[in-house]
Amino acid sequence: MSISLDAEVVVLGGGTGTPKLINEIADRFTSSVPTVIANTGDDVEFGDLFVTPDVDSCLFAAAGILDTERWWGIEDDTEQTADALRELADSLGLNHEPNYRPTTHQTEGRPIAAWRRFEAIPEFMTFGDRDRAIHRLRTTLLDRGHSLTTVTQRIGDALGAELPILPMSDDPVATLVHTDDGSMHFQEFWVARRGTPTVEEVEFRGSTAATATDAVLQALDADVAVIGPSNPVTSLGPILAVDGIVDRLKEMTVIAVSPFIGARAFSGPAADLMEAVELPVGTPGLTVAYPFADAVVTDVTDTTDLGLPTVQTDLRIETPDDAERVWHGVIQALEEVS
Ligand code: GDP
Repeated sequence: MSISLDAEVVVLGGGTGTPKLINEIADRFTSSVPTVIANTGDDVEFGDLFVTPDVDSCLFAAAGILDTERWWGIEDDTEQTADALRELADSLGLNHEPNYRPTTHQTEGRPIAAWRRFEAIPEFMTFGDRDRAIHRLRTTLLDRGHSLTTVTQRIGDALGAELPILPMSDDPVATLVHTDDGSMHFQEFWVARRGTPTVEEVEFRGSTAATATDAVLQALDADVAVIGPSNPVTSLGPILAVDGIVDRLKEMTVIAVSPFIGARAFSGPAADLMEAVELPVGTPGLTVAYPFADAVVTDVTDTTDLGLPTVQTDLRIETPDDAERVWHGVIQALEEVS
């Protein structure tokens, strides 16, 4: 089995659906492999530790080391440091609610992080030991003045990533949600609070000042863009908010892969978030969220009529064979629009 694409392809996405689509498939392309542009609106800092979850999940997928039980972190990683930190903090009564660092700390120092800086305790996301080593290395290289794009490429080289992974921007963009229980970073909402507050508004703070990197603009010179099966609001939203990206997409052939079956997301809060930002929920919202899309790949059981060329296939992705099947759906969609 192989994936044969005549066109140059760029994939845009977040940290679960898109890594599933690219996980361990590099060897299956008989043509050049796609470049991936990953969301950085989910990035956070704990203490000084800079974490870019969607970029990392794409890197780990491209290097074949992603934990495919959880679809985040590194397979077979240990969590000794996280456990030790939790134990120590518990014994001192320090593990409480997420603690934002003071306002002045949000914007001073390292320019890549703003409005997403938490204290190191509690560390409400779980980092495996090897995973943490990557965050430590990344933070050090950023502090030496390298861009997130360069650092990501170097980490990709160290891990043996077989696809190029690009952060959407080197400028900070923080996805904040305004809820019935106050405003908070998306990671606090989703990880620390398990998505329980009701979201009233979604903000991509920093996005108006953020620019696409040269690497991203060059990748968007490809013939075809595939919008991965990712959350249209919090994974694609920040990417599309970066100046210059939508303009490029309007000029390309764009195939969107649905992260939904009808109104239901395969996982995560995408449906609720679409409702919060007043998009039609689920697959029907894809053409509103992605007005530049030329065709859509939907699940074989999805009855949505999008008024666009639509290819149907089984969209549940667990294995590289599943991902390959979806890529064949993308190729079929391309044939329909070309
Ligand atoms: P995250 O929000 O940063 O974790 O990353 P994404 O936005 O990439 O992933 C979340 C989206 O992936 C959700 O909207 C899910 O519905 C979608 N998703 C998860 N698993 C699958 C799958 O197996 N197939 C498809 N088509 N979508 C999936």
